[in-house]
Amino acid sequence: MDCVFCKIISGEISSKKVYEDEKILAFHDLDSKAPVHVLVIPKKHIVSVEKLSDCDQGLIGHVFLKIAIIARELGCNGGYRIVNNCGKLGGQTVNHLHFHILGGRAMSWPPG
Ligand code: 5GP
Ligand code: ZN
Repeated sequence: MDCVFCKIISGEISSKKVYEDEKILAFHDLDSKAPVHVLVIPKKHIVSVEKLSDCDQGLIGHVFLKIAIIARELGCNGGYRIVNNCGKLGGQTVNHLHFHILGGRAMSWPPG
């Protein structure tokens, strides 16, 4: 499958991993937008939030519980932002579900 994140999961493309288990992978974003910028992805290829099914409920719960642990371990003690860009107008450029953890600086609102 021609998916950059599937290739990161398989090791075909290298990444700076911060966490991995049987269901998910977290790694540093190549083009960081904050002192902490990590992507958390399910190992299952799901295109976007739009394509989630009922059977993914447990997986998504797992993703969010781990996001909190990963953010804490990366030192985002004062807070952080979790971002999901969904679809073209939402700014999604990689069509494999992913959540950005952005931290280490104050975040502005609204995002662009
Ligand atoms: P999106 O815009 O789809 O929400 O975010 C995709 C993110 O993936 C971008 O922040 C981009 O920098 C990151 N990205 C794209 N290709 C690679 C890659 O090969 N390695 C890493 N580590 N990040 C990538
Ligand atoms: Zn994929």
